[in-house]
Amino acid sequence: DSDHWITAVLALRKANRIVVFTGAGISSESGIPTFRDNDGFWQRFPPERFATWKGLLQTALTDRHSVAQFIFNVIEPIAKSEPNAGHAAVASIQQRVSTTVVTQNIDGLHQSAGSTSVLEIHGSLMEVVDVTSGEIVRQLDRNDLARIADITRLYANHQVSVIRFLWNLRKHYPFDWFGRHRPNLILFGDDLPEPAWAKACQASRECDVLLSIGTSGAVYPAALLPATAAASGATVISIDPQPMEGCWLKGKAGDLLPKLISDAFGSNCK
Ligand code: NAD
Repeated sequence: DSDHWITAVLALRKANRIVVFTGAGISSESGIPTFRDNDGFWQRFPPERFATWKGLLQTALTDRHSVAQFIFNVIEPIAKSEPNAGHAAVASIQQRVSTTVVTQNIDGLHQSAGSTSVLEIHGSLMEVVDVTSGEIVRQLDRNDLARIADITRLYANHQVSVIRFLWNLRKHYPFDWFGRHRPNLILFGDDLPEPAWAKACQASRECDVLLSIGTSGAVYPAALLPATAAASGATVISIDPQPMEGCWLKGKAGDLLPKLISDAFGSNCK
């Protein structure tokens, strides 16, 4: 409604420090489905079997092909994606006002759109980590992801043996027989990465505006950030097609964000 729009524009104009907090919704216009809007994703891949490391390992022992199917479903849309107008608008806010970008997404699209110092509080699919040392052992690009998706699809569809699958995978992913190398992702039950999480909390306490984009607020502790900002006196603005509490701008990020930034800061925002 127009009152909320005006509140949002005025709060952004006055703000000295902004936190942009994003979830899967900001990337849906880049062709990456959100899990909650994608009917049946969690029914097909129940979180206790697919979204914890222990569950994934156990599922792999009994049903390796379903794990491959899950991995393919996650990787393939991210491999093919490009940033959209919403990601570009976030990058342009960062150029105008002191802004901390905090994302729950693992797709690297904020960086592809030009945002810097992005706090990836659920990790990144573009990085492979050594779990014993905590070091990032490989940075992947979207071409690597596309190749890994192809290889994984063949295995998921029973078109190649597990030996062939692992052999092919080694060309694009630093596979480690002892299981020490894995995607740098935070699954359910994992602690959030530091110092990213501490910095996200601090920025939320210190900001004047927290702009929450495309996140349902159902995943904790990430969902505490808007409440943290509100408790410290910040204006919390939400952009989402689904109803949100407080100053809610109803619509898609790729439509609304460029207009909002242009109304708040001037017109030369694409
Ligand atoms: P979520 O809880 O963040 O909810 C997605 C929200 O986006 C919903 O409120 C939905 O109404 C909203 N939305 C849909 N289309 C939108 C649009 N065009 N513009 C603005 N908002 C829009 O997401 P989830 O899918 O349940 O994800 C659970 C976890 O998995 C989160 O950590 C999430 O970031 C992660 N995930 C990441 C990606 C990615 O990296 N792109 C994709 C799927 C899930």
